[in-house]
Amino acid sequence: MTLEALEEEIRACTNCPLCRTRKNAVPGTGNPHATLMLIGEAPGRQEDERGEPFVGRAGRLLSEILAEIGIGRDEVYITNVVKCRPPGNRTPRASEVRACMPYLRRQISLIGPRIMVLLGMVPAKTVLGMYGIRFTSMGEMVGKVFHVDDVILVPCYHPAAALYNPRLVDRIRETLRKVGELYQK
Ligand code: SF4
Repeated sequence: MTLEALEEEIRACTNCPLCRTRKNAVPGTGNPHATLMLIGEAPGRQEDERGEPFVGRAGRLLSEILAEIGIGRDEVYITNVVKCRPPGNRTPRASEVRACMPYLRRQISLIGPRIMVLLGMVPAKTVLGMYGIRFTSMGEMVGKVFHVDDVILVPCYHPAAALYNPRLVDRIRETLRKVGELYQK
């Protein structure tokens, strides 16, 4: 299966109740052969309207910081753990994460990234768990670099959190700088 075919499958998915409230499923976007994959929690309002991930203010902040470290958005692949917007942007339920996880697994397997940045608690908990690492807390795990087999996992604060707490911008910048160094190696 190609990544494009998988994205089409996601757009038509009705495997959990979020399909009833979404406008558009948001499979992900970017380089199908990306070395670096960024994984967020779930689409927000603008993402739901446009069917693209990270297009609102948080997405712009992410693009700006990536540009500062010399990484273009077209070089990377960006997606979320849950592909449809939870109503009111609530945190996705464990059942929704479970229903949607197979898509993320298949995206990872098709793209084969060397580095994955986990933006926020839900992706950190979910993806670290996939690789057998127990999540403790964002405070403890943000900015740490986990090498598992041939992949590198880096938990990072979600840029949306920085819109409400500007002090987190520097933490995100610091984490992504570290990612930039790993990316250039
Ligand atoms: S959130 Fe995932 S599992 Fe649920 S309907 Fe959307 S694509 Fe399907």
